[in-house]
Amino acid sequence: MLSVEEARRRVLDAVGVLDPVDLDVADAAGYAVVEDQAAPHALPRFDNSAMDGYAVRASDTYAAHESSPVELEVIGEVQAGRPPDREVEPGTSVRIMTGAAVPRGADGIVPVEHTSESDGVVSVNQPTSPGRHVRPAGDDIEAGAVAVRRGTELGAGELALLASLGLSPVTVVRRPRVTILVTGDELVAPEAEVAPGRIRDSNTVALRVLATEAGAEIVGSERVPDDRGATLDAFRRAAAGSDLVISSGGVAVGRYDFVKDVVQELGHIDLWRVAMQPGKPVVLGAVGDTPFMGLPGNPVSIHVGFEQFVRPAIRRMRGCRSLLRPTLEASLASELEKRPGRLHFVRVRLAQESGGWQAVPTGPQGSHIQSSLVDCHGVARFPSEATRLEAGEMVTVEVWKLPDGEGVR
Ligand code: AMP
Ligand code: MG
Repeated sequence: MLSVEEARRRVLDAVGVLDPVDLDVADAAGYAVVEDQAAPHALPRFDNSAMDGYAVRASDTYAAHESSPVELEVIGEVQAGRPPDREVEPGTSVRIMTGAAVPRGADGIVPVEHTSESDGVVSVNQPTSPGRHVRPAGDDIEAGAVAVRRGTELGAGELALLASLGLSPVTVVRRPRVTILVTGDELVAPEAEVAPGRIRDSNTVALRVLATEAGAEIVGSERVPDDRGATLDAFRRAAAGSDLVISSGGVAVGRYDFVKDVVQELGHIDLWRVAMQPGKPVVLGAVGDTPFMGLPGNPVSIHVGFEQFVRPAIRRMRGCRSLLRPTLEASLASELEKRPGRLHFVRVRLAQESGGWQAVPTGPQGSHIQSSLVDCHGVARFPSEATRLEAGEMVTVEVWKLPDGEGVR
């Protein structure tokens, strides 16, 4: 049996980063940036005022006091968006708005609250100092500095900075096109009548959501009957327009499990037994040139297998710097037992306690127990060789999401 790490390494070796595409910042949310984004100029670009007030030579205001204001001639005004047209000479000032460029000669701002103006003269009743209320050029980012590192997924903060720097369009990695094939004669649509012995297909919706959240674009999904010809056709079609084909079921050793056979015919396949629970059989291969990953059909195995292997692969294809979920250490709420030999992924809820995080198993952990995935925040690792974990023992949790925040009263 392969370890999870070794299996994941092989999966990641089988996929590469996809092609770059140039997108306007408005369309680039969630994409990973291909190269380091260096600032083409300083930000702010020019010294500007942090307040509405008067741009002055600070030394002119040193003597100012409530009881004896200093008077300065107002020689002009500078609005945000207009270049200053006057230089501030000793004894003079320029009215200035927040964000407007500080005129030459001025080195400080007196906020309007500390002034009164009449007949072209401003009375300043509090001194300012050089640099006071001025946002200097380069305060945020110096020209040439890296604003956003390669492999970063672009969110509002990163995109806003790229926008300010004029780095639009930005070169990002395109999204992988994914096709999902779920196999099984027993499956019917969630909306359909269920005849005796049949079950509703829950893997399609699960895989669609998991793949979309991992950053893929779903270009097809199909329920495939347990029939060799139908399976062959479905895989052929899937591979044609996809960067990755994912399947569920049909990889066991049952008489009606055709996936291995068909993929072998259309490309190549490796079937591994991975030392994990749930989700032991994992299939990696290619249909033609298109990478293929097959997961066992059980609804929990799908979810856990996707998290361990498919999500990192999709993120690698997307050019993301980080491929894995974050982890945290949590105190286990109740004892657990198992046989040695496989790493168990125990579905848990997280609760924040005064001393740190607590991990509460979500109930029975069988690979068919779908309710174990409701309100589930991730999986606690129950190490391969361990057979017992005590309540209160610290475990490592792979975090899928964090608990909700508090409501608003
Ligand atoms: P298989 O790997 O095809 O042998 O399937 C293993 C188990 O998962 C069986 O109990 C199947 O009925 C169930 N299963 C397979 N595919 C799905 C699906 N799409 N939705 C829900 N359960 C499924
Ligand atoms: Mg099946």
